[in-house]
Amino acid sequence: MTNESLFQEALTHFPGGVSSPVRAFRAVGGTPKFFRKAEGAWFEDEEGVRFLDLCMSWGPLILGHAHPDVLAAVQEAMREGLTFGAPSRRELALARRIKEMVPFVEKMRFVSSGTEAVMSAIRAARGFTGRTHILKFEGCYHGHADALLVKAGSGLATFGEPTSAGVPESVASLTQVVPLDDLEALEKVFLMYGEELACAIIEPIPANNGLLLQDLSLLKRLRELCAKHGALLIFDEVISGFRVGPGGAAELYGITPDLVTYGKIIGGGMPVGLYGGRADVMGVVSPDGPVYQAGTLSGNPVAMAAGLATLERLTPAVYADLKHKGAQWAKAFERIPGLHCPHAGSLLWPLFQPGVKRADRVESGAIAQFNKLHKLMLEQSVYLAPSGYEVGFLSAAHGDTELAKFEAAVDAVAKGF
Ligand SMILES: *Cc1c(COP(=O)(O)O)cnc(C)c1O
Repeated sequence: MTNESLFQEALTHFPGGVSSPVRAFRAVGGTPKFFRKAEGAWFEDEEGVRFLDLCMSWGPLILGHAHPDVLAAVQEAMREGLTFGAPSRRELALARRIKEMVPFVEKMRFVSSGTEAVMSAIRAARGFTGRTHILKFEGCYHGHADALLVKAGSGLATFGEPTSAGVPESVASLTQVVPLDDLEALEKVFLMYGEELACAIIEPIPANNGLLLQDLSLLKRLRELCAKHGALLIFDEVISGFRVGPGGAAELYGITPDLVTYGKIIGGGMPVGLYGGRADVMGVVSPDGPVYQAGTLSGNPVAMAAGLATLERLTPAVYADLKHKGAQWAKAFERIPGLHCPHAGSLLWPLFQPGVKRADRVESGAIAQFNKLHKLMLEQSVYLAPSGYEVGFLSAAHGDTELAKFEAAVDAVAKGF
C-alpha cells in the first residue's frame, strides 16, 4: 500500500483524511505518511521507509517509541483487564510518583486528554472562585475546549473572539486575551477585570505556536497579579510537564501555580491527562464539592501503567542527558544558513528568523522557508512536525547514531538554503 492510496481512502472516511488536523500536511503540502510501526527514535511508513522522528507523537514519547519497559508494563496491566470503571491500585501508584516529582500537586484528578484536563481545571477555578471570566495568552494553546479557542478581539476591549466556527461569541467573550511578551497589556487587563477573573492560564513554556520563550518577569508578575486579585494561576504543562525537568516549568522557574494540567508524557503514549494542585481548590471537585467532572475511562489501568513506567524511568540523569541533547541538536540544526533554533530542554524550534517571542511576529517568509525545509528533510528520511509553528521533540532514544544521521541530513539540505 502506498501512502497516497491510503490517504485517498482516508479522505472518504475522515474530514481531511485525518483524526487530528495538523496531521493532514496542509501547512507543508504533500501526502501524509501512514506509519505502521515504530521503535526508539525511528518509525516506518507503509511503504517501508524508515524515518528519524523529530515529532515523537507530539510529545508523549520522552523515552522513545515502543520502549520495552513501557510495553511490558502495559502488557502486564492489560492481562488483568482493560478497564474496571472502579478504583484500582495503579492510579495510586501513578499519583504517588507524580507527587514525588511535583510536590505542589496535593490533590489530582485523572482524565483522558490534555483538553479535558484544561477544561476541567477551568471549571474548578470558576467553581472555587465563583467568578466567570478567564485570562489566556495569545499564542498559547490549551486544547480545543470552547472557552480557549479564542483570540484577542479588536479595539480597546480585550474580550476574546472565537477562532473556530461553532464557538459561541458569548462563550468567547468570557475569555480575556493578552499578547505574550507584553507586561503592560497584562497589567491593564488585571486593572480592568482583575476582580472578575477566576483564573489566568498560560503555557509557562509556550510551545504550540513555535517555542516562544518568555522573560521570567512575565511569569513572576502574572503570579503576583493573580495572588493580588484572587484569581487562580493555572500552568498548562501538557507539553513542558515531565519534559523540561521532573517538576516541569514550575520547578525550573521556581514559580508555583495554584493548579496545573498535564497530558502527553504522563500517559507514556496512552491517553491520560491530569489536573491538580492546591488541595483546597481541588476540594470543589465532585464528589467532595459542587464542581461536576467525570470520565468512563478516567484512571484507566492500562494507561496508568504506561504513565507510571514512563515516569519511573525519568531520572535526573535522563533529564541531564535530554538537556544536553537539546543544545546539541539545536546547534546541528543551525548549520543550515539562516536557521535559528531556540530550545528548552529537549524541545526545539527550527525557524528562519531570530528572537521571536510572539506568534504574530513570525514572518510568512520564515514559514515558507520551513515548508521547504520540511520537504527536503523528509527526502532525507527525517520527519519534522508538518508545520512551521510546531516544535520538535527529542527523546532518550535520540542517541549518537541518530545525531550522526541528523547531521548528515542537515548538511545535505543546507546547500538548498
Ligand atoms: C497538547 C496540548 C493540549 C491538548 O492536549 P490533547 O491531549 O491534545 O487534548 C493542551 N495544552 C497544551 C499545552 C498542549 O500542548
